[in-house]
Amino acid sequence: MANVKRSNTKKPAQARRVRKERRFEPEPTYASRVSIGGGMLGALILGAGVYSQWLSDNPRAIAPYLFGVGAASLGAALWFGDAGAVPVRVGDAGVAIEKGTELTRLSWCDMERVFSERGELVAKGKELTLRIPIAAHRTAVAWILSEGIKRLPAVMDVKRQSLQRLPEPQDNDGDFVPIEGLQVAGRHCAASGKPISFERDARLCPVCAQVYLKDQVPKKCVTCDAELGARAVEL
Ligand SMILES: [Zn+2]
Repeated sequence: MANVKRSNTKKPAQARRVRKERRFEPEPTYASRVSIGGGMLGALILGAGVYSQWLSDNPRAIAPYLFGVGAASLGAALWFGDAGAVPVRVGDAGVAIEKGTELTRLSWCDMERVFSERGELVAKGKELTLRIPIAAHRTAVAWILSEGIKRLPAVMDVKRQSLQRLPEPQDNDGDFVPIEGLQVAGRHCAASGKPISFERDARLCPVCAQVYLKDQVPKKCVTCDAELGARAVEL
């Protein structure tokens, strides 16, 4: 890593801000419970169908139907269930969703519009759009909205009525985890347009996570207007 070498040299280690974010596990929802129940029932009926069709001494006429019903309801449960809801992270670096070991991250500065659509909170960026099922992630969504309004009010386009069922963000919500998967190398400095080749050359806006070259940091963030200068943070 680029920083290992530097820590060996004389430069006194500047206290790096430990950047953390909140991680939220999906909550079991009514829909997911129903679909798990449906799935289990489907599997059971499917098993009964298989048994009486192929294993039982006298196959029953009903077996093929059992088989069909079982397979269909198992399939429906997998299809309609939100078993696919994944953990969500919210913090200084924006919003990220976890898929297995992969983290898909959308920085605040890259969000163009945040809105709700068919039960999902949608954070739309130029190259990436995140969709978060609201029922399974009420606390995470509440945090995204309250953070988003503080950081980038211009992109928050969420209707008031969809907020009502959300809990108030509490300090002890979620689990604090270190921020990972924030890619800055390969991005361009938002002030100068120059490419950023190394993490160590990057400075971030603490409010919207916009990325600048360390010697090109403007007085105010070009994206969120926050006072920047010396307040820009290292990764
Ligand atoms: Zn900013």
